[in-house]
Amino acid sequence: MLETIYKELILDHYRKPRNKLSMAEPTVVVSMRNPLCGDEVELMLAIDGDRIIDARFGGQGCSISQASVSMMTESLMGRTLDEALELESKFLALMRGEEEPKRDRALGDLRALEGVSKLPVRIKCALLGWNALDEAIKAHRRSEEGLMGKRLEFEDLTSIPEGFDPAEHKEDLPS
Ligand code: ZN
Repeated sequence: MLETIYKELILDHYRKPRNKLSMAEPTVVVSMRNPLCGDEVELMLAIDGDRIIDARFGGQGCSISQASVSMMTESLMGRTLDEALELESKFLALMRGEEEPKRDRALGDLRALEGVSKLPVRIKCALLGWNALDEAIKAHRRSEEGLMGKRLEFEDLTSIPEGFDPAEHKEDLPS
């Protein structure tokens, strides 16, 4: 039952992504691409002081990568950068299959992705947007006067998961 609800929630975010919009004056823009499977995420953050006041994204890819970043932008609104990093560590724990984050309301819809922890080859898809968030916060903190409008590009070149089949990855796109 819960599994069905979670699956519907993932497809809902994939088909009707939240905050998939451009942003006129982002503080930082990070684009992250997985060259292996072709998933792409462009994350735009508006940061005021130490707080994320707006989070939007662009991109394309499989349902898991796009639903994860859609859910992530919803969860980031109004959070401080430290709170955003805390959320990231909770999501990483969820992807490691830990029990506590499954019950953590702070994760909101993101809890629907708990099943991905059992699919090692798809965890990278779920983490793509979070890797972009991590780079965005690092870049923002590195820069003294902010990175107004500058677009930073990254490729996810971490190890290819064993058993990964790009053809299968594409086929999981819901029709
Ligand atoms: Zn993917």
